[in-house]
Amino acid sequence: MSDQPQLTISRWIWRRLIGELHRRGQERRESGAFLLGVRQGPRASVRDFCCYDELDPSALDDGYVTLHSRGLKALWAQCRARQLDVVADVHTHPGPDTRQSTLDRRHPMVPVDGHIALIVPNFAHTTRWRLDGVGVHEYLENGWRSHVTPQDLLRLSWWP
Ligand SMILES: [Zn+2]
Repeated sequence: MSDQPQLTISRWIWRRLIGELHRRGQERRESGAFLLGVRQGPRASVRDFCCYDELDPSALDDGYVTLHSRGLKALWAQCRARQLDVVADVHTHPGPDTRQSTLDRRHPMVPVDGHIALIVPNFAHTTRWRLDGVGVHEYLENGWRSHVTPQDLLRLSWWP
């Protein structure tokens, strides 16, 4: 078995992502983003991200993240134009608990087998250099499989 993780993110993109999630959530509401990247077989590497409230200005208004159809339309247009795929999604939780809420489990952002949903603790007021405490949830046909920062699923890399 290869030790290549399923999803790789450069430290620079992760650092920028955590900064944006923190800023947009203002430490009082959840925020989130789609991770855009390229797939090679079962593996994917992240090239950029797109915050929910960029796609849909009302996405954070309820305190938890929701994306309406215009937001999804904007997302697919951006993916097509940049020739990138949605390889994962990420959202923040208020406290240290990065298990999925009932809402998270019932409403996957991308209900595709193998899709990864990340949850970042403390409204992303957290380290920008490590994956400590990040919840990693994998959507499978028969339900979710959850982990806390497993190295085989998600890894930060030094290269872009
Ligand atoms: Zn959640």
